[in-house]
Order: sequence, then C-alpha cells, then structure tokens
Amino acid sequence: MMKKMTIDDKLGLDIYNTDEHESHIDVDLECKDEAEIMKLVLACPAECYKYVDGQFSFSHLGCLECGTCRVLSHDKIVKSWNHPMGTIGVSFRQG
Ligand code: SF4
Repeated sequence: MMKKMTIDDKLGLDIYNTDEHESHIDVDLECKDEAEIMKLVLACPAECYKYVDGQFSFSHLGCLECGTCRVLSHDKIVKSWNHPMGTIGVSFRQG
C-alpha cells in the first residue's frame, strides 16, 4: 500500500527554478504594523515571511506562487506581485 504523503513530502517533490537575485514579489520590509505583518507570516504556506524579535524579513525562494500574500496585504506590505518570467518559478509534482 502506498504511504500517505505529508505536505512536506509533497513540497519536497516540487521543482524550483528560482531567480535568486530578482524577487517576483516586492515587499515593504520597513513596515512596522505588526498585525499586518503577522497576517502574512501566518498565511504564507511556504514560510517566506518571517517576524523574529521584531525583525521582519522575506525570502522569495520557496514561494509557491499561491498569491495569498498579495490578496491579504491589499497593497500595504506587498507592493507588487508578478508571476516569475518564463520557466522561472515552482513546478508542482503532486496535487
Ligand atoms: S505567493 Fe504564496 S507562497 Fe509566495 S510568498 Fe505569497 S503567500 Fe507565500
């Protein structure tokens, strides 16, 4: 019988062809609104947003291009969001 895959198992199969230098999401890291920051930290399934000891950080590496942060932030923290160009970005392998 096939073992049930966890989310981490499934994400591990995805292929990331990431542009390490150019982020497809422009984030206002100077934002001091903790409530807005925490929305993104909690909602991002790939944990791209981090808020540790009052320090807000973002990494586009591992982004699943789900668009959740763009919708939630109403242009407050996420200033622009574009799909990565051409073959850049995530390729899903499972579900
Ligand atoms: S698009 Fe989705 S996975 Fe990518 S940073 Fe935003 S919430 Fe996270």
